Amino acid sequence: MVACPECENDLDIEEDEVDEGEIVSCPECGTDFEIITVNPIELKPVEEEEFEEEEEEETEDGDYS
Ligand SMILES: [Zn+2]
Repeated sequence: MVACPECENDLDIEEDEVDEGEIVSCPECGTDFEIITVNPIELKPVEEEEFEEEEEEETEDGDYS
């Protein structure tokens, strides 16, 4: 049994059902975790920064010199 590091909810993950690098999310608090190792299972919270990098509208005033 693996407990969510954030809210300690039982994540219901079996060691032989997951692979290293796989992403699981906690149904209770919604946090995503990357599986670092499977024996024993070790989880790392996934940062969500990657998703908003492709926005095309830029309103930064960075051209002053
Ligand atoms: Zn949780």
